[in-house]
Order: sequence, then structure tokens, then C-alpha cells
Amino acid sequence: MTLLDRLIADHKTGLYVDGGWHASGDGAVIEVRDPSTEEVVAEVASGTAEDGLGAVTAAHAAFPGWAESAPRKRGEILRRAFELMMSREKEYAGLIVAENGKAFSDAMGEVRYGAEFFRWFSEEAVRNRGEVYRSPSGDKRISVLNQPIGVSLLVTPWNFPIAMGTRKIAPALAAGCTIVLKPASDTPLSSLAMADLFEEAGCPPGVINVVPSARSGKVVGAMMADRRVRKLSFTGSTETGKLLLAQAAPRVLNTSMELGGNAPFLVLEDADLDLAVEGAMQAKMRNAGEACTAANRFYVAASIADEFADRLSAAMAALKVGPGMEPGVDVGPLINAATRDKVAELVEEAGGTVTTGGRAPAGRGYFYLPTVIKDVARGAGILAAEIFGPVAPIVRFDDLDDAIAQANDTDLGLISFVFTSDQRLGMEVAERLEAGMVGLNRGLISDPSAPFGGVKESGLGREGSHHGIHEFLEPKYIGAPW
Ligand code: ADP
Repeated sequence: MTLLDRLIADHKTGLYVDGGWHASGDGAVIEVRDPSTEEVVAEVASGTAEDGLGAVTAAHAAFPGWAESAPRKRGEILRRAFELMMSREKEYAGLIVAENGKAFSDAMGEVRYGAEFFRWFSEEAVRNRGEVYRSPSGDKRISVLNQPIGVSLLVTPWNFPIAMGTRKIAPALAAGCTIVLKPASDTPLSSLAMADLFEEAGCPPGVINVVPSARSGKVVGAMMADRRVRKLSFTGSTETGKLLLAQAAPRVLNTSMELGGNAPFLVLEDADLDLAVEGAMQAKMRNAGEACTAANRFYVAASIADEFADRLSAAMAALKVGPGMEPGVDVGPLINAATRDKVAELVEEAGGTVTTGGRAPAGRGYFYLPTVIKDVARGAGILAAEIFGPVAPIVRFDDLDDAIAQANDTDLGLISFVFTSDQRLGMEVAERLEAGMVGLNRGLISDPSAPFGGVKESGLGREGSHHGIHEFLEPKYIGAPW
């Protein structure tokens, strides 16, 4: 029996509130589709605004006890969650494939990366240190403690249904916050499976609540307006992020935002081309390009641009495209028809020369072939859009300063990549790139122990590392006589 079959058989496709499974207040459901067949694989309760507020009530009631609980206890629950998830990694990966479509190998990578946040923050839970020091004038004892911020609303996207949840759940719980998780409506099942996992790991009722809803604006809006909610942690598009920031303003609600990216991938003249192509494949093709960290624009030194394009095209053409669970498949379908059509439109309007792919294959499923477009002109629309698909546009450059200027010529700044054999030059370029993260001779740098996040319109705050827990803590200063 698969994890999906078990969730359905055990009636765990409802809203998870206060440790129980419930139908939506008005009986509405979300149809979850397998993107490789377009068929409905499950029906999940679609919460109302009142359901969201009911979850806030449960999280609010559970907060004092959870915040006061021993840090070690919270850490051990997270550690058990890590072990449970890893002991069933294939089942979780299969569930991701069922609702998101990605290749099983990508899903396995996601489960391992995602579970690692549970382990990392199980260790951070017991390292919440404060400070005590004497004021400069000598009159006061300055004590600073970091207290959990309170009921936290977590809103996650569909591209990493497990990992985008774990990256928020783990630090929130470690800090002593209780949560309401609102997963994307394309992929609610992974979050419901995680609620079940935490129950098994010994998490008390009300600490984790999960409210899927197709009416995201209404449900999230109602919760954000409720004064018992003290934090919003959001991952999704810059467009929705801006909307939520505006909605947060009237309450001065504390927000963490992981928004869109438009990652430049620079290949300098002296780069090791084998390494650069391998890095490009990782940076572009993990998750079929459906990642905010995906390489979006390739700037390649003119002297090596043709060879880079040839090698990248060969590697892309060799990938097997198909349903995520089929053996040997490297690239699954995109999440839905709208996403696939947007990718197709960007390719059609890109200009340049398509050297491989460039179309959606015939038949069912939201597939798009791995695509390379060389000699794309600067200023082409595809370079300004977040592609979110398996398409690599290549621009040649003659002058490194100009390439860096083009790389920085965007309102987004999540991640950048640089390939060069000169480590010192690489560090210099990395420092000049306007991004929260830089991969230097590496196409994949996400790591739960490193700070993930962007500058400019790519977001606010950082997830992972020792910084991540502070998004859910607030320093309290107590001044007392020395
Ligand atoms: P994506 O392209 O990843 O779907 P979105 O920003 O549209 O990016 O969605 C990310 C998350 O935000 C999802 O959980 C989605 O349901 C939710 N969401 C979308 N629109 C709104 C909104 N107006 N208010 C609150 N949440 C929203």
C-alpha cells in the first residue's frame, strides 16, 4: 500500500486541526491531480476562512504549553520526525511524485533535503542562547532572551511539497512556536502526511495544524487579520509575496518572505567546461527547472559559448522525460497546464536558436522537453521572466564587467552561479553579484545548515542555518540594576 492509499484509507485527507481530521466547514474539496496523467488521485478538504480561524484557536491554545516545554523535548520530537521520514523515504518520495509529478530521483533528493531540516533544528532547539552584560555606564544589567514569537502561519508552494514545509515547520517548532500550515492547493497531500508523521513522533495536539484550501486569499487573509497570529512565513511568487506584505502592514505582522528568483549563471573564459556543464545541469534541471534557485539565464564568454551550448544541448537531449515513477526517468511533467503553456510561450518569443527541445511532446501530461536556446539577445523577454521550466537561454558576453552588470540588472536577487578556474576571481565576482546566495563552481548549494534567502525583491529573512530559528524568535531585553 502506498502512503497515498493509506492516507485515503485512514481518512487523513481532511483538515488537520487540534490533533484531529475534519471535513471543511462547507464540505468543499480540492481535486489533486497527477500532472503526468492529468487524473484526479485524491480529494482533500478545502478549508474556509472559519476553518482557518479554528486552526488559529487550536494553535493559540497550544502555544503556552509548547513554548514552556523543555527545549530537549521539542528537539527530540523533531529528531523522531527526521528518523521516521528517513526510514520511509521512498514512501514520501512516491507521494511527492503522485501530486507534483517530479522524477522519483528528484523526489528522493527532496525528502532527504527536507528531512535534514528536522535533524538540523532538533539540534538548534537546545542552543537558544541569550546574553547578559553590563551597560557602558555601569548602571544596568542588560539581559537578552530569545522568546518564541507566537502562533505562526506558514504558507508554502507546490514545487517542493515536503521541503518547503520542513524548512518552516522545523525552526518554528524548535523555537517553541505553534503553527498553522497552508500548503499550495496543487500539492496538499505531503503536508497532511507530515501532520500524521508528527502525531506519530509525539507532537501534542494543536501544535501543528494543516489547512489546505483552494480559497487561499480568503483563508490566509482571515488568519493574518487575527491578532492571535504573530508571524507569517511565506514561500511563493514575488507577486503574491507583495500582496501579503501589504496585508501584513496594518497589523505590523512579522514576516519572512522567500520569493522569486532569476538566477544568472556565469561561465568565464577559463572555466572547466566539464564542471560548468555538470553544474549547469544541476542548477537548471533539478525539479525540471521548477525551483526559485534554478539557473534562469546563462552568460557565457564568447570564446567558449558554442562549445558550452553544444555540450549542454547534448546533456539535455540525453535526459529521459516521462512520468515520475517510471524507471530511469530524469524529468517529470510540469505542475499544470498553465505552467507548461507559459514555458512554451517564453520559448516561442525568446529569439535565438533552439538547439534541442523547444516543444511540448504530444500526449497526456504537462510535459515540456529539455530545451537549450543559444545566441539569445540581451533584452529578450525570457531573460526577465522566471522560467520555472526546463529551458536554458544562453547569452554570449565579451566583457566580464558587462556580464556582471547584466546579471545584476534585475529586481530579483536570490542566487547566482559563477564558473571559473581562478578561485580568487570567482570570489571577487561572487562578492559583486547582487544575490543572497552564490554557487562558485557548484550548481547546487542548498543546505539546511546554510542561510537560504534572497536580496532585493527575492525576499526578507533567511531559512536554515543558525539564522533560521531567529525568524521565529524575538529578543527580549530586561534592564535591571547591576
Ligand atoms: P506558486 O507559483 O508557487 O503557486 P503562489 O505565490 O501563487 O506561487 O503560491 C504560493 C502559496 O501562496 C500557495 O500556498 C498559494 O495557495 C498561496 N497563495 C496564492 N495566492 C494567495 C493570496 N492571495 N493570499 C494568500 N495566499 C496565497
